[in-house]
Amino acid sequence: MPSTSSPSTPSSTQLVFIDPAFPAGRLADASQPQLLATDLGATRGDGIFESLLAVAGKPKKLSAHLSRLASSARFLELDIPGEEAWTAAIDTGLKAFDQPEAVVKLLVTRGIEGANLPTSWVQVSAVPELGKQQREKGLDVILLDRGYDADLAPRAPWLLLGAKTLSYAVNMAALRYAHQQGADDVIFTSADGRVLEGPTSSVLIAKRHGKTKQLITPQLDSGILPGTTQGALFAAAQKAGWELGYGPLVPQDLFEADAAWLISSVRLLAPINRIDGKEIGTVQNQAELTAELSEILAGTE
Ligand code: PLP
Repeated sequence: MPSTSSPSTPSSTQLVFIDPAFPAGRLADASQPQLLATDLGATRGDGIFESLLAVAGKPKKLSAHLSRLASSARFLELDIPGEEAWTAAIDTGLKAFDQPEAVVKLLVTRGIEGANLPTSWVQVSAVPELGKQQREKGLDVILLDRGYDADLAPRAPWLLLGAKTLSYAVNMAALRYAHQQGADDVIFTSADGRVLEGPTSSVLIAKRHGKTKQLITPQLDSGILPGTTQGALFAAAQKAGWELGYGPLVPQDLFEADAAWLISSVRLLAPINRIDGKEIGTVQNQAELTAELSEILAGTE
């Protein structure tokens, strides 16, 4: 049964279950079992989630994450808690965690079979060191085929393309495959040769034409997850004078870019050094553009 005791050290992972009997959320011990083994999230990966960064006790881009969670819930026909319940539980978790930076996960599973009662909770934990290192050193990336066409999503809603589901085993397998090849990360391509996204990130390239600087990301309707970080950066970069583009992109566009990145909520803007062993852009372009865009991103809510 769920326990109401909280973990002993302030920096250890915090869990806060959304529970109508606890308006601020119910703190639970992350070192103890908290889910029933029959939960469909565990037995079928049937659920949704969000991962976001919190700085100084405040979640970043919370409304974008809550609206993507609601969109994922619609894909899966899941009835999820309202924004107030999430906000209260996140606040409880961040106060208990009490660190300058944190990763906040919002999770919903379909609950136990037949009960029609989703299980919803917030997990607050430390920001992984690896992401910070990759942001500084850059990434070696490989291209991997995802096996379906970029225009499949509207024709096959059962594939849940564009929802952030708990079924991330394929994404994690792609990352392990990359690591076995000596690479750090992956960019998926579609069967019809389009650039899609990373297993846990969006793809971004920059092109310079004279004084014009353009940021381009793959088509958002190509069966990828619409990135909240890409969205926030695009809005702010446009105000700073950048032109924006939304694909379609093919691998050649990556190889011809002045710089390229994988971008996501926790690792933020991680520059790509090489794709399939080929250098991307120039060291100077990468350094200048990464610094400029990181500053723009840091200024976003
Ligand atoms: N694409 C996929 C498949 C992801 O899992 C993620 C984040 O985890 C992203 C893109 C980037 O999304 P965000 O910027 O909202 O973190």
